[in-house]
Amino acid sequence: MHTTDLKNALADVMKGEVTDDEGARRGAARDTSIFERMPALIAYPKDPHDVSELVRVVGAERKRGADISLAARAAGTDMSGGPLTTGVVVNFMKHMNQMGPVRQAQGEEVGDGFAVTEPGVYYRDFEKATLEKGLLLPSYPASREIAAMGGIVANNSGGERTLEYGKTEKYVEELDVVLSDGSLATFKSLTPSEVEKRKKLQTLEGEIYREMDALLTENAKLIESHRPKVSKNSAGYALWSIKNPITGEFNLAKLICGSQGTLALWTKAKLNLVRPKEHRAMLVIFLHDLSILPEIVKRVLPMNPESFESFDDHTFTLAVKLIPGMLAQMGFAKAARLGIDFIPEALMVATGGVPKLLLMVEFAEDTIESADAKAVAAKGALADLNLKMKIEKDEKESEKYWIVRRESFNLLRKNVHGLHTAPFIDDFVVPPECYSDFLPKLNALLDEYKSHFIYTIAGHVGDGNFHIIPLMDLSKEENRQVILDLAPKVYELVIKEGGTTTGEHNDGIIRTPYLPMLFGAEMVALFEKTKKIFDPLNILNPGKKVGGTFVDIKRDMIREKM
Ligand SMILES: Cc1cc2nc3c(=O)[nH]c(=O)nc-3n(C[C@H](O)[C@H](O)[C@H](O)COP(=O)(O)OP(=O)(O)OC[C@H]3O[C@@H](n4cnc5c(N)ncnc54)[C@H](O)[C@@H]3O)c2cc1C
Repeated sequence: MHTTDLKNALADVMKGEVTDDEGARRGAARDTSIFERMPALIAYPKDPHDVSELVRVVGAERKRGADISLAARAAGTDMSGGPLTTGVVVNFMKHMNQMGPVRQAQGEEVGDGFAVTEPGVYYRDFEKATLEKGLLLPSYPASREIAAMGGIVANNSGGERTLEYGKTEKYVEELDVVLSDGSLATFKSLTPSEVEKRKKLQTLEGEIYREMDALLTENAKLIESHRPKVSKNSAGYALWSIKNPITGEFNLAKLICGSQGTLALWTKAKLNLVRPKEHRAMLVIFLHDLSILPEIVKRVLPMNPESFESFDDHTFTLAVKLIPGMLAQMGFAKAARLGIDFIPEALMVATGGVPKLLLMVEFAEDTIESADAKAVAAKGALADLNLKMKIEKDEKESEKYWIVRRESFNLLRKNVHGLHTAPFIDDFVVPPECYSDFLPKLNALLDEYKSHFIYTIAGHVGDGNFHIIPLMDLSKEENRQVILDLAPKVYELVIKEGGTTTGEHNDGIIRTPYLPMLFGAEMVALFEKTKKIFDPLNILNPGKKVGGTFVDIKRDMIREKM
């Protein structure tokens, strides 16, 4: 079917709009990854019924042999190419952007409260509404100002508070979804007898329960042995999270979370929330010798910090250089206060005393006194290691470090011209115990390629999750080749240590081809089977999670000079 005919067919059945406008398509052709895919159409559904019609029409076309598929898109901040497609973009931001109730938990309800949301709600708006009730989704990503709930759920996002609170999958209670034949379903926690009832349905939903329960039962050992050993993972399909082996509780919402829109499109979520502690104090460690890092982590983690974050010497130096420009955007009073606060860091840069890694260990408590006491205790526990440390007694004092940590990616992106941020080894996780073995090997590897890029490392050091985002000139073929050459070498090191290729940013175009290396052929066969059960026609975001190739990476990389 010609694109115009498909557009008309969709417009006939949807209340929302469909467009082939060049500007709109160009806007949806990119996310924050290194890829570009020009979509044929953008559809803006008004409600789940619209999404359902859209999926039905695309499915019918596919049955007739057309090479057409669709990809969900929320705010488009994905770093892996997740929302990119040459088919139809399903844009949730325009209409499906309403929040439902936010309320405190009652009786035996899980967590401290919950919120109901559509996928097109920006996290910043979601948080405003939850904080009004004193509640928070603590798995928010560092991209909290620009990301939306659609991707936070579909990528199984995590962030600076994941160390204490876990990732989004832990908070996904219920998802309303549109399945690949256009039918509607609600995935939530079911008892074994409720699962049996669902299995009797003569619908795609029934088929999914029948097939998935059989797949999980027949392959229980294999799946359990591939449960990620590190504390966060967004790679593959979370087959280990669906069924509780002891209670038999079965929740497919846990699988949809993190599946990048490849199994179903979600239209409404019920998310559990927590009541955040009110006060924070931070122990800052200026680390010059990386070999002590494992010992620091070993001693600090049992003290239960809410966050344990880090950034490297490159970020530190760049931040100090660019501080005047950053502060200029913050208003005079705040800029003056932070400007003075940054003087010690500026002196470190001037005197060559920049630490290799700056560690931020933050403790949260209900009173400022108890938060401070925890930071003091952590400092005491490290006293014999001869470290330069200081305590920031409240959130105002520690703000400057959070600004640098949260802005590390933007610092590079906005201030080094002519080069493109290239997330391709941006999100691996290793067990923190292996740092002394792993980090020197990683540094040696990055050094080999240093003529091709500059980079910063920032990360969730307590979780072993590192964000390395090089800046590269992607117009050069040799640099694009580095992306294909270096990533498998880094992942080989990561996998040897028992780590994972992605803790939060997900597989997308950039990492799907590495899933066999990470999980092995048998598990990948289960991922393929899962995909087939949910999406037999392969119309939902094909090539992500299942079927993606190195040819895709090579073909779709951005080639233009920034
Ligand atoms: C500066 C920066 C920092 C970042 N920091 C973090 C971080 O700390 N942690 C983290 O996890 N990520 C981080 N990211 C990556 C990204 O911002 C997050 O993963 C975010 O949650 C994506 O949300 P989005 O709304 O932009 O999703 P999109 O980019 O629109 O989509 C992401 C994926 O979700 C799918 N999707 C979207 N809506 C739906 C739906 N309704 N149904 C099914 N599938 C859907 C898309 O198809 C796509 O595969 C960062 C990105 C940037 C640029």
